[in-house]
Amino acid sequence: MNEQLDDTALSQRFPWVRLDHDTKNLFRAWLDRRFVITRCDDCRRYHHPPKPVCPACWSSALTLTPVSGRGTAHLVMLLHQGAPAPGVDYGKGPHPVVTVELEEQEHLRFTSTVVDCPPEDVRIGMPLELVWIDRYGAPFPAFRPRENG
Ligand SMILES: [Zn+2]
Repeated sequence: MNEQLDDTALSQRFPWVRLDHDTKNLFRAWLDRRFVITRCDDCRRYHHPPKPVCPACWSSALTLTPVSGRGTAHLVMLLHQGAPAPGVDYGKGPHPVVTVELEEQEHLRFTSTVVDCPPEDVRIGMPLELVWIDRYGAPFPAFRPRENG
Protein backbone atom coordinates (compact mmCIF):
# COMPACT_ATOMS: atom_id res chain seq x y z
CA MET A 1 0.00 0.00 0.00
CA ASN A 2 1.15 3.51 -0.78
CA GLU A 3 -1.35 5.32 1.42
CA GLN A 4 1.54 6.69 3.51
CA LEU A 5 3.43 8.15 0.56
CA ASP A 6 3.18 11.91 1.07
CA ASP A 7 1.92 14.20 -1.66
CA THR A 8 5.39 15.44 -2.60
CA ALA A 9 6.76 11.93 -3.01
CA LEU A 10 3.66 10.94 -4.97
CA SER A 11 4.04 13.87 -7.39
CA GLN A 12 7.65 12.82 -7.97
CA ARG A 13 6.40 9.42 -9.15
CA PHE A 14 3.94 11.03 -11.59
CA PRO A 15 5.71 14.17 -12.87
CA TRP A 16 3.57 14.19 -16.02
CA VAL A 17 0.18 14.49 -14.31
CA ARG A 18 -1.41 17.28 -12.35
CA LEU A 19 -2.25 15.83 -8.98
CA ASP A 20 -4.97 17.35 -6.87
CA HIS A 21 -7.12 16.44 -3.92
CA ASP A 22 -9.56 14.57 -6.14
CA THR A 23 -7.02 12.52 -8.09
CA LYS A 24 -4.09 11.84 -5.81
CA ASN A 25 -5.43 8.63 -4.27
CA LEU A 26 -6.15 7.26 -7.74
CA PHE A 27 -2.46 7.58 -8.57
CA ARG A 28 -1.49 6.12 -5.20
CA ALA A 29 -3.50 3.05 -6.17
CA TRP A 30 -1.70 2.84 -9.52
CA LEU A 31 1.61 2.51 -7.70
CA ASP A 32 0.20 -0.73 -6.26
CA ARG A 33 -1.17 -1.67 -9.70
CA ARG A 34 -4.70 -1.35 -8.38
CA PHE A 35 -7.08 -0.22 -11.13
CA VAL A 36 -9.76 1.71 -9.29
CA ILE A 37 -12.58 4.00 -10.33
CA THR A 38 -14.47 6.48 -8.14
CA ARG A 39 -17.83 5.08 -7.06
CA CYS A 40 -20.62 6.87 -5.24
CA ASP A 41 -21.58 5.31 -1.90
CA ASP A 42 -25.12 6.65 -2.23
CA CYS A 43 -26.29 5.99 -5.80
CA ARG A 44 -23.58 3.37 -6.57
CA ARG A 45 -22.69 5.02 -9.90
CA TYR A 46 -19.09 5.04 -11.06
CA HIS A 47 -17.48 8.10 -12.63
CA HIS A 48 -14.13 8.94 -14.14
CA PRO A 49 -12.07 11.10 -13.92
CA PRO A 50 -12.49 11.68 -10.19
CA LYS A 51 -14.58 14.65 -9.12
CA PRO A 52 -15.26 16.13 -5.67
CA VAL A 53 -18.95 15.14 -5.85
CA CYS A 54 -20.91 12.46 -7.67
CA PRO A 55 -22.06 13.90 -11.03
CA ALA A 56 -25.26 11.81 -10.81
CA CYS A 57 -26.53 12.68 -7.32
CA TRP A 58 -24.05 15.26 -5.93
CA SER A 59 -23.11 13.09 -2.99
CA SER A 60 -19.61 13.63 -1.66
CA ALA A 61 -19.49 10.08 -0.26
CA LEU A 62 -17.15 8.61 -2.86
CA THR A 63 -14.93 5.54 -2.70
CA LEU A 64 -12.18 4.40 -5.05
CA THR A 65 -13.40 0.96 -6.00
CA PRO A 66 -11.52 -1.81 -7.84
CA VAL A 67 -12.92 -2.60 -11.29
CA SER A 68 -12.18 -5.46 -13.66
CA GLY A 69 -10.31 -3.53 -16.34
CA ARG A 70 -12.40 -5.32 -18.96
CA GLY A 71 -14.21 -3.35 -21.60
CA THR A 72 -14.52 -2.54 -25.28
CA ALA A 73 -12.91 0.10 -27.48
CA HIS A 74 -15.34 3.00 -27.77
CA LEU A 75 -13.13 5.47 -29.63
CA VAL A 76 -9.85 4.82 -31.45
CA MET A 77 -7.38 7.48 -32.55
CA LEU A 78 -4.05 6.81 -34.23
CA LEU A 79 -1.61 9.62 -33.48
CA HIS A 80 1.06 10.09 -36.12
CA GLN A 81 2.69 12.90 -34.19
CA GLY A 82 2.36 14.38 -30.76
CA ALA A 83 4.04 15.39 -27.57
CA PRO A 84 7.03 13.26 -26.56
CA ALA A 85 6.05 10.42 -24.24
CA PRO A 86 7.99 7.49 -22.87
CA GLY A 87 7.65 4.37 -24.95
CA VAL A 88 6.11 6.29 -27.84
CA ASP A 89 8.14 6.48 -31.06
CA TYR A 90 6.14 8.15 -33.79
CA GLY A 91 8.87 7.17 -36.27
CA LYS A 92 7.92 3.51 -35.83
CA GLY A 93 4.26 4.02 -36.62
CA PRO A 94 1.15 5.58 -35.18
CA HIS A 95 0.47 5.58 -31.45
CA PRO A 96 -3.02 4.33 -30.60
CA VAL A 97 -5.07 6.34 -28.12
CA VAL A 98 -8.15 4.40 -27.15
CA THR A 99 -11.15 5.29 -25.02
CA VAL A 100 -12.41 2.11 -23.42
CA GLU A 101 -15.94 1.70 -22.14
CA LEU A 102 -15.54 -0.34 -18.97
CA GLU A 103 -17.89 -3.25 -18.45
CA GLU A 104 -18.99 -2.10 -14.99
CA GLN A 105 -21.26 0.64 -16.29
CA GLU A 106 -22.57 2.07 -19.53
CA HIS A 107 -20.74 5.29 -20.53
CA LEU A 108 -17.97 4.66 -17.95
CA ARG A 109 -14.90 5.35 -20.04
CA PHE A 110 -11.16 5.42 -19.52
CA THR A 111 -8.66 6.68 -22.08
CA SER A 112 -5.23 5.08 -22.48
CA THR A 113 -3.39 3.12 -25.13
CA VAL A 114 -3.47 -0.41 -26.52
CA VAL A 115 -0.42 -2.69 -26.55
CA ASP A 116 0.26 -6.20 -27.87
CA CYS A 117 -1.59 -5.38 -31.08
CA PRO A 118 -0.63 -3.59 -34.32
CA PRO A 119 -2.16 -0.07 -34.09
CA GLU A 120 -3.92 -0.52 -37.45
CA ASP A 121 -5.75 -3.57 -36.06
CA VAL A 122 -7.37 -1.73 -33.13
CA ARG A 123 -11.08 -1.48 -33.88
CA ILE A 124 -14.08 0.11 -32.23
CA GLY A 125 -15.93 -2.58 -30.32
CA MET A 126 -12.78 -4.67 -29.80
CA PRO A 127 -12.84 -6.51 -26.44
CA LEU A 128 -9.97 -5.32 -24.28
CA GLU A 129 -8.47 -6.08 -20.90
CA LEU A 130 -6.21 -4.19 -18.54
CA VAL A 131 -2.44 -4.50 -18.68
CA TRP A 132 0.02 -2.41 -16.68
CA ILE A 133 2.76 -0.68 -18.61
CA ASP A 134 5.60 1.49 -17.37
CA ARG A 135 5.49 5.25 -17.88
CA TYR A 136 8.34 7.33 -16.44
CA GLY A 137 9.12 4.47 -14.06
CA ALA A 138 5.61 4.26 -12.62
CA PRO A 139 2.79 1.81 -13.42
CA PHE A 140 0.27 3.07 -15.95
CA PRO A 141 -2.97 1.29 -16.92
CA ALA A 142 -3.21 0.32 -20.58
CA PHE A 143 -5.19 -2.27 -22.52
CA ARG A 144 -4.60 -5.25 -24.76
CA PRO A 145 -6.89 -7.37 -26.90
CA ARG A 146 -8.93 -9.78 -24.80
CA GLU A 147 -9.07 -13.43 -25.78
CA ASN A 148 -12.38 -15.26 -25.92
CA GLY A 149 -14.41 -12.10 -26.40
ZN1 LIG B 1 -24.17 9.37 -6.58
